[in-house]
Amino acid sequence: MPNSAIANPYTSAKEYDFIFAGYGAAASLVLLQLHRKNALDKVSILIIDPEKKNKNDKTFCFWANNDDSIVKDLKHLIKHTWSSVLIKNAGHSPLAPLSYHHISSIDLYREVQQIEKPNWDRLLYPVSQIERDQISAYVVVNNEIIRGKKIFDSRTPSYEKVSKGETHIFQSFVGWEIETSKTIENPTTCRLMDFEIAQNNFTQFMYVLPFSSNKALVELTRFGSEILKENNAETQLKDYIQTHFGDFKREAIEIGCIPMSNAKIINDQIKDVVSLGARNYKVKPSTGYAFKNMYFQACELVDSLTNSKKTEENVQHEKASRGRFAFYDALLLRILQHNPQWGKTIFQSLFKGVEINRVLRFLDQKTSFYEELTVFMKLPWKPFISALLHNIITSNWFRSFLLLLISVLLLALGNETIIQNIIGYGLFLIGFITVGIPHGAVDHLLETGHWDSKKTPRFIFSYLLQAAAMGFLWYLFPELALIIFLLYSAWHFGQADGKQWGFGPALSLIWGAFVLFYILGTHLLESNTITSIIGNLSLPIACPIWAVIPWLIWSLFQKKVAFTFTLIWLLLSSQLPLLFAFGLYFIGQHSITSWQHISTHLKLKHQKIWLQALPFHAGAWLILLLFLYFYPSNDRFTSTDKSQWGIFFIFIACISLPHVISMQSVYSKKK
Ligand SMILES: Cc1cc2nc3c(=O)[nH]c(=O)nc-3n(C[C@H](O)[C@H](O)[C@H](O)COP(=O)(O)OP(=O)(O)OC[C@H]3O[C@@H](n4cnc5c(N)ncnc54)[C@H](O)[C@@H]3O)c2cc1C
Repeated sequence: MPNSAIANPYTSAKEYDFIFAGYGAAASLVLLQLHRKNALDKVSILIIDPEKKNKNDKTFCFWANNDDSIVKDLKHLIKHTWSSVLIKNAGHSPLAPLSYHHISSIDLYREVQQIEKPNWDRLLYPVSQIERDQISAYVVVNNEIIRGKKIFDSRTPSYEKVSKGETHIFQSFVGWEIETSKTIENPTTCRLMDFEIAQNNFTQFMYVLPFSSNKALVELTRFGSEILKENNAETQLKDYIQTHFGDFKREAIEIGCIPMSNAKIINDQIKDVVSLGARNYKVKPSTGYAFKNMYFQACELVDSLTNSKKTEENVQHEKASRGRFAFYDALLLRILQHNPQWGKTIFQSLFKGVEINRVLRFLDQKTSFYEELTVFMKLPWKPFISALLHNIITSNWFRSFLLLLISVLLLALGNETIIQNIIGYGLFLIGFITVGIPHGAVDHLLETGHWDSKKTPRFIFSYLLQAAAMGFLWYLFPELALIIFLLYSAWHFGQADGKQWGFGPALSLIWGAFVLFYILGTHLLESNTITSIIGNLSLPIACPIWAVIPWLIWSLFQKKVAFTFTLIWLLLSSQLPLLFAFGLYFIGQHSITSWQHISTHLKLKHQKIWLQALPFHAGAWLILLLFLYFYPSNDRFTSTDKSQWGIFFIFIACISLPHVISMQSVYSKKK
């Protein structure tokens, strides 16, 4: 056969109506729901999972009303139901109208396997990739391409590195199914979160789910960064069981680990690919419960598939981390990670002080804000206040908010008063020394991340050469130099801010040009005094202070809090002297943002970068002094204050050019 006749794997690939990548709980619930709606007969289905799913690997528990659809739909799978809970220190609490239900994973898997139809295929391999081309979405299995009209992706998720304000810890557990010699009292009562065990600097507790008067699942659970190992759990489980139930026989073991995370799940958004279960943020970060959420997702999904409605978009991390419940989860996760010793007190106070049904509704995110306040009143305040302060300080809007406060303070101090000048120039100087100049003094590290005896001296030489070239340009053609300076400043400001606020390249450039024009144009007289000294040019028109309003409206619609605060302080800074407005932007916004990008790029701590920048930073000040002293004066440069500022800006322009060029390579590499 000639080569040209070899089948193209992309066009000859087999196609299914539905492909399930992953055949765990979420996929099973969707398949059951499709079966319930008689939607399986006419569709071809491919299920791909390296696991056979013939073991009982999980115990799914959830609370629900007896007449809730989840209980009705899954009644035949529910193995046990408990009508009350026993919580140490809080006592015995009936759950009515709720009950706590238990489904063994193997029953769920078997149920789906029983409904398997001849038009279903199964592959016991991992899916290595899910993609889309101009024809359709497809999976790659064993280097083979298989197309799907809809692909349901429930492969175990991976998470991105945690960002500021995020936490990634684990709920790990080791459970023993036991047969006891002593009769278990009240087998219709389960024990949740019994903290009366050694904490060993963790947050850990026991669950007891009695299955009969002499059988139970006893589970040691830990919340935290360190995963509970089977051998570490053994002594505690043995002691606990013997204390509460006497002699026992171990019949089975359940070992598991659920990420308790509000970090971003690595997942591409691909048309006709629907993420399910844990991969679609269905695990509640602070509890690890997911089963009910997955059931509801299955119902909604099948409803839209069978009614030809648009299927729900995959949950985006931004959405999953928005809202007050995500905020509560974030606080608790932070406490559990950094102060696990508080876990016991928090959960005991919660169950002791708040009626169990309210606690469960709170965990279901169904409470009103007022009810949540009554819950918080019962909790210890100290760890939450400290987690809250930490979250505020590290939140992405805090810096903009602080800049807003500084603008208000400077404005309140009146124009050109002594105190305003001391605070304004004081902050300007501190900012310049701590981050303004240093953020441009690490450019030599950007390429290699360290001092490279071959590359770095060459880099520094070429850096100084570019700066000197700019200096000559200012001397010879000040108008041209000024225009070039304004252009690359706008480009560079837009690049840094655009990355911070998630703008595309065009919007970044528009924003960079706008912010520069806004600061200069709302201070027309002062700006023109300087630009005419340094570049023989004046801005032809003033910028109206309201020009920021359209951006403000847009940012409110986009719910970009940090950007909104920035626009408000920019608006206020139009009423401050030019240098203060420029300092607020250049140091408070631009330099700190760039510094953060540099720190991420170099994967180094701030202190280390600052120390590495020190020699170049000191060198920059030295060049500034030389510049102020030696820069050839002509009739534009008299000895007035303004002319000194003019020389200062020429210096900034000279050292900015090579900096903008170096950072450009960082930003384009990042892309
Ligand atoms: C031990 C344990 C107990 C839990 N108990 C509860 C509980 O009581 N209540 C509750 O609400 N939640 C519970 N959860 C949380 C949650 O309900 C479960 O994690 C649930 O299984 C998540 O469903 P899923 O379909 O997203 O993932 P899974 O059920 O884990 O299914 C994912 C499937 O994808 C497969 N897979 C992975 N990689 C690939 C690949 N590359 N290609 C193809 N297939 C792949 C895996 O083999 C697996 O079968 C528990 C979790 C664990 C780990």
